[in-house]
Amino acid sequence: MSSEIFDRVAIIGLGLIGSSIGHAIKRAGLAHHIAGYARTEKTRKKALEIGFVDTVYETAAQAAEGADLILVCVPVGACGSVSREIAGSLKPGAILTDVGSAKEAVIRAMRPHVPEGVHFIPGHPIAGTENSGPESGFATLFDGRWCILTPVAGTNPEALQRLTNFWESCGSMVDQMSADHHDQVLAITSHLPHLIAYNIVGTVADLEEDSKSEVAKFSAGGFRDFTRLAASDPIMWRDVCIANREALLEMLGRFTEDLSALQRYIRRGDAEKLQALFTRTRDMRRKIVEAGQETPEVDFGRHAADDLGGPE
Ligand code: NAP
Repeated sequence: MSSEIFDRVAIIGLGLIGSSIGHAIKRAGLAHHIAGYARTEKTRKKALEIGFVDTVYETAAQAAEGADLILVCVPVGACGSVSREIAGSLKPGAILTDVGSAKEAVIRAMRPHVPEGVHFIPGHPIAGTENSGPESGFATLFDGRWCILTPVAGTNPEALQRLTNFWESCGSMVDQMSADHHDQVLAITSHLPHLIAYNIVGTVADLEEDSKSEVAKFSAGGFRDFTRLAASDPIMWRDVCIANREALLEMLGRFTEDLSALQRYIRRGDAEKLQALFTRTRDMRRKIVEAGQETPEVDFGRHAADDLGGPE
């Protein structure tokens, strides 16, 4: 499905996701003009220099002025204040969306500021890497990746279709679900794995200096695969943990119980239980490969990172 060409698109936040959207819009010719906003002069200058936006503005409100499609691509914790700031600049009939990794909290923060006549449709592209900033984006980030839209009650079907077409033209496959369901699914598929990675890498960071150099040397034993997730942006993940705290705490509770059971199998030398668990988990990888979300090679996306996306 090819998208309409928007007259003016505004990208609020020009980091990994904002810049990748800019590149994808340019690649597919989806806008006559892309206006961008970032907090710092440095990011704004870099965005213009790279060329994934046509103009940049010192305020989000100026960038959003007169735009037909506004994509809020700032950390989850900043979505509310940005929405408040741009509210007066949004034109009737415009589509306002976001890319935040937690949806219920973003909806709570943004919705009260959405003016009458503006179509607010929250979204989340399930694509990313461990890098951040305007130089980290690339046009193919969303290719073959899911983008989840979480429309609120009463969403205009035509606006929803237009946004769906937009994401498909950026390379994504689009699915819809409730914000609540999204948050539960992402808590297990993305948020918990990141927390585990942050925790294990944090444990190593607290080891004695001697042991740390050994860890770096022999990291191919498995540790390095966690470091990629644990190198993800600290602000983004701080906000995600707080925004999706309920679903994440639920998943952490289950994870901790299962870890305790595993500890018991090891202490008791229960070979049968260990083997049964490790066999079951292999099957999960096969399913992910079959779903086209990973290649069969056991490189954990290191070589294929650009094709497959990384964290998220
Ligand atoms: P990023 O690379 O760190 O970029 C964040 C952008 O937002 C920067 O342009 C930054 O401006 C701006 N910004 C930061 N704090 C702000 C604030 N308080 N007010 C206004 N602007 C602010 O982040 P990202 O990875 O693109 O993530 C952006 C959003 O995408 C997040 O909501 C995240 O949950 C979601 N997401 C991320 C991924 C991923 O894997 N990274 C995947 C899917 C969705 P300056 O550069 O000027 O500081």
